[in-house]
Amino acid sequence: MYVTMKEIVDRAYKEGYGVPAVLGENETCIIAAIGAAEETKSPLIFINFVDTMPDPFFYCRMVKTYADQASVPVALCLDHSPDFADAVAGIQAGFSAVMIDRSRLPFDENAKEVKELVRIAHSVGVTVEAELGHVGDGENYETDGKTAFTDPDEAQRFVEETGIDCLAVAVGTAHGAYRGTPKIQFDRLRELHERCSVPLVLHGGSGSGDENIYKACQNGIAKVNFARDIVQAGYDALMEAKLEGDSMYDFFDVITNGIKEKVKHFFEITGCKGKAWSQIPEFGVQKLGLEGGKEHEDK
Ligand SMILES: [Zn+2]
Repeated sequence: MYVTMKEIVDRAYKEGYGVPAVLGENETCIIAAIGAAEETKSPLIFINFVDTMPDPFFYCRMVKTYADQASVPVALCLDHSPDFADAVAGIQAGFSAVMIDRSRLPFDENAKEVKELVRIAHSVGVTVEAELGHVGDGENYETDGKTAFTDPDEAQRFVEETGIDCLAVAVGTAHGAYRGTPKIQFDRLRELHERCSVPLVLHGGSGSGDENIYKACQNGIAKVNFARDIVQAGYDALMEAKLEGDSMYDFFDVITNGIKEKVKHFFEITGCKGKAWSQIPEFGVQKLGLEGGKEHEDK
């Protein structure tokens, strides 16, 4: 079933586990990850980016169709929406969550813009994730991976002022492939967890190490983003399969299964495996009572 991301992360946060938010760039990724979620009875979040979707409306319809047919809760988050208009367009297209990244702006500007987005998103039942501090790129990890960590004082203020549903924090992970060994600042993470009243999000989960991920999920992280590892899993499976002749027809199955096994692994290391629940969908027009609803029928 297609649900808001808030339902998934709130539950994870309260019960002390994390949920993998995996790259859902195309139908192959979607089928693979939902397959893994159903087989392990786990809730699932997809992330995708503005520049990978030729038509966000078509894309959201596709994900929602697969999600609604699934026996587990599935949410879809527009990751790193580059500006305000992109985030609002994401809400319009049908994402059940939007992540707004204004982490390079000064605090007050960042908070002001995020607060406005929260008002719009919440009025139609869409979850908002924002980032404070800056999660850099793994390629530059030795240099910029060690800057712009999230400050606990600022984080507390930011959460209170904006009304966001979850906060992406910079505690030592990085996007993409690491050059150097990731060192997560668990003391900082624990303090952020203590000070902030919302679930925390870890970006740059790929290559961060299973133990680090597990430990982070025990300390307030309720969502872990994995993008590069998803692509890598498909690629590795394909290289191992060494397809030739008519076995070439297995091309897509090999990639799908490679991704599926990786997502199952993510459910294990986040503590998310087996945590799915069943419920009546709450997202969108039904939640707002715009479909005629029960009240009308009773009259
Ligand atoms: Zn990110």
